[in-house]
Amino acid sequence: MVDRRTLLASLAASAAAGGCGRKSAPSVASAPGKERFSWKMVTTWPPNFPGLGTGASTLARYLEQASGGRLRVQIYAAGELIPAFEVFDAVSSGAAELGHSGAYYWRGKSEAVQFFSTVPFGLNTHEMNAWLYYGGGLELWREVYAPFNLIPFPAGNTGVQMGGWFNRQINGMDDLRGLKMRMQGIGGEVLRLAGGTPVSLPGSELFTALQTGSIDATEWVGPYNDLAFGLHQAARYYYYPGWHEPGPTMECMVNAQAYGRLPQDLKAAVRVACQAANLDMTAEFNARNATALEQIRADDSIEIRAFPADVLAGLRVLTVEVIESLTARDPTAARVWSSYRQFLSQARAWQRISEQALLSTSIL
Ligand code: CA
Repeated sequence: MVDRRTLLASLAASAAAGGCGRKSAPSVASAPGKERFSWKMVTTWPPNFPGLGTGASTLARYLEQASGGRLRVQIYAAGELIPAFEVFDAVSSGAAELGHSGAYYWRGKSEAVQFFSTVPFGLNTHEMNAWLYYGGGLELWREVYAPFNLIPFPAGNTGVQMGGWFNRQINGMDDLRGLKMRMQGIGGEVLRLAGGTPVSLPGSELFTALQTGSIDATEWVGPYNDLAFGLHQAARYYYYPGWHEPGPTMECMVNAQAYGRLPQDLKAAVRVACQAANLDMTAEFNARNATALEQIRADDSIEIRAFPADVLAGLRVLTVEVIESLTARDPTAARVWSSYRQFLSQARAWQRISEQALLSTSIL
């Protein structure tokens, strides 16, 4: 009871300061569970960008619906309130209560964060969800984000991505030498070890960078998202698989104080809405990637190619080197990797005799 009174008093103070809600303090106190919140969500995505931007919109809608309209969310796409790569700082400082992004963009804050988005040749979408929800991954993620005043939730996953768009063929590891390619996170460091130059660019800049030749290649997501940016009009070769992003988790980060001010039922609404958004994004990408792939296959100006087996083998070796080096210099990353690695080895044995075995056959 005392805790509830303290919470309500803090809510009232916050409302009086203009921090939230239309309800006055007395009605909050006399009608618990009716307090209203207006939150800002900043994202790394262009406005309503298919899949990722709409994933953020879906999450905002779920939050409003699950809260019966008591938690309203105003979305700001990349560049509308802050630039794409300032989401982490904006939510950390409380300038926005929510952020929708990908953890690998924040490796400058902590090397450990990258494991919560994706690791080259690592966990796929099924396995990421299994690790995060049932394998201790989410607890570790919360621990890593806590010093930054942030509470993370998985809130989307694109599924395995494509290897990217190239204007030259990749027939051996030598072809990666000197390649200037947009690639994030650990995958980018692997490219660097292979002799390439990884470049970090927000999605909205990829088409121009590729078309003008300021980069030689780019990865983005997969057929559905890549067509939306017109990347097929700026490069000839579309490579698979996306070795660098086998199942990247997108995140919803919540400012810890803002979350703390929510009553229990709205905290639950945040948790459940994020989990629903996580499922929804994977389903949408799987459905729309298949349709977009048909469109790409019908276009003679595009050649869909597999990375040669020896290139994938070479990249795997370099991935291990990159991870060993980053875990050697960062004890938190080492602890997260230890959990991730143990989970991957168990989970992959199961995937091989379940999903993988089944996917090699079909009734069609
Ligand atoms: Ca990507």
